[in-house]
Amino acid sequence: MKLRMTTSRRVALVTGAGRGIGRGIACALAREGFAVVVNDLDHNEELQTTVSIIREAGGEVEAVPADISDIPHHREFVDRVWRAFGDLDCLVNNAGISVAKRGDMLDVSPESFDRLVAVNLRGPFFLTQEVARRMIDAPSKAFRSIITISSANTEMASIDRAEYCISKIGLSMMTQLFALRLATHGINVYEIRPGVIETAMTAVARERYQARYDQGFTPINRWGQPADVAQAVATLASGALAFSTGEVIHVDGGLNIKAL
Ligand code: NAD
Repeated sequence: MKLRMTTSRRVALVTGAGRGIGRGIACALAREGFAVVVNDLDHNEELQTTVSIIREAGGEVEAVPADISDIPHHREFVDRVWRAFGDLDCLVNNAGISVAKRGDMLDVSPESFDRLVAVNLRGPFFLTQEVARRMIDAPSKAFRSIITISSANTEMASIDRAEYCISKIGLSMMTQLFALRLATHGINVYEIRPGVIETAMTAVARERYQARYDQGFTPINRWGQPADVAQAVATLASGALAFSTGEVIHVDGGLNIKAL
């Protein structure tokens, strides 16, 4: 068993940090004092913008691009992540995709189903497994956490993107399983369940959601922002809820409340 070098700096990895919620999370963690490894599919302009925002604010950041659904390369990916700052205290499984086209679930193709499950569920599961092994191998006194961004679609069915809902509900059980397995290693595991957040992912259905907000869609009746999700992640990653694990935090303006 290797003992890690002592350092007071905490390090986080955020997948899918090139834009949207992932970028918000990376910035919030940097503000919280984390050195942040930002990941996205490739080192494109969007990921570079995330890097620049954090650097210009005085934060520590490195970009490590990779496709999180590429499981055979996870070991090499986590090697590169670990080398960036010599450690890892927090993994945020944020990267995810929506369906290429919303439509009748009776027409969902096996290709679309497999693609959604590969990116949204298989990727995060095996990445979490790889990171957990490394964390166990390099014990630390620092608070460590694994935080997964699921969706309101874990509990609300959208029949125009069935494969998305199915991929996301698996993340809820994944959180509970890893929470149980990793508790004795000092790694807390959480799920964040966002409602409708204003990003590129929801832009395709913007008018439809706006019409619903106009009629009082959520108790706190406004679009969620990446910063809302990011604040929840930063709070959990800080260790503020250190005696809680396996928990779900809804960031949805109260959308999940069953009202009569
Ligand atoms: P987004 O599409 O704006 O950003 C997702 C980012 O992930 C992109 O930069 C994309 O390039 C990256 N990505 C996609 N596949 C990847 C892969 N295989 N490997 C690495 N990076 C990859 O989406 P967003 O709205 O910011 O959503 C972020 C997460 O939050 C997703 O998991 C999504 O399912 C979830 N979520 C979003 C909403 C919402 O309303 N926007 C609601 C609930 C949950």
